[in-house]
Amino acid sequence: MENVIVFGHKNPDTDSICSAIVMADLQTKVRGEEVIPCRLGEINEETKFALKYFGAKEPQLIEKVEEGQTVIMVDHNEFTQTVDGIENAKIDTVIDHHRINNFKTSEPLFYYAQPVGCTSTLLYELYTLNNVKIEPQMAGLMLSAIISDTLLLKSPTTTEKDAKTVKELAKIANIDVEKYGLEMLKAGTNLDKYTEDELIRLDAKKIEKEDIKYIIAQVNTVSIPDVLKRKAKIEEEMNKEILAKGLSLFVFVITDIVNSNSEAIVLGDRVDAISKTYEIKDNIAVMPGVVSRKKQILPLVEKNI
Ligand code: MG
Ligand code: MG
Ligand code: MG
Repeated sequence: MENVIVFGHKNPDTDSICSAIVMADLQTKVRGEEVIPCRLGEINEETKFALKYFGAKEPQLIEKVEEGQTVIMVDHNEFTQTVDGIENAKIDTVIDHHRINNFKTSEPLFYYAQPVGCTSTLLYELYTLNNVKIEPQMAGLMLSAIISDTLLLKSPTTTEKDAKTVKELAKIANIDVEKYGLEMLKAGTNLDKYTEDELIRLDAKKIEKEDIKYIIAQVNTVSIPDVLKRKAKIEEEMNKEILAKGLSLFVFVITDIVNSNSEAIVLGDRVDAISKTYEIKDNIAVMPGVVSRKKQILPLVEKNI
């Protein structure tokens, strides 16, 4: 593609989809030529709800990029989570709120990262920085992304800046944040329509540390026991994935978004990375008060693995 393209990570969440659309809007206006929003996977139910609510089109699905393609990455930087062919693409810009890992480029780039709760919080700043007016639809999409990543500002990843941004965006989009936010999050807890194989991929992040490969996946629910009714089949699919990808560890986190707790199914040779901190019984670790993979689970696995 001749146009610059923008995409979030594989197994896209609401931030990865909405921030791609919003960044494409901003960059199209800043550059004066069309920047195309793309996605690296299927759109989940929560994100579908948001796109429909604000009348936004689904970004274009891509699987790989050609050599020399100019790309903008949002909501990620790790090469294990990005598009195939990235090594030979021209990474023009990264807007992110994650740790930097396995990332390198051959040319200078614009890299904008802050430890905030959501990529869209940074996009809001970039509109201001570039003196571009935010349309209500874009405000609604940014709002949706922040609500999703911060679980309505309740996740420990939430910063003051996220909360302030939500207030400003709610005004522009003319939205009752609590009401809309709960509806959107609930739309994402409808897991019945997914097979177990789909469930474990829905929001999975693959991570590599030296030679160790592992996955931390997460689903949101209003009832952990409901999801655990499918435990045997979920474990079967997780074990298949462990074999197929040579994983040392697979953590499938089930998060109760109403009570802000999680339970995780933990499998693989290196379950000790979790069991050092949380007792594992029947392959399940109970994690009271845990909702954030990035801030509460990933750091402890990285420390122990
Ligand atoms: Mg994300
Ligand atoms: Mg994000
Ligand atoms: Mg997330």
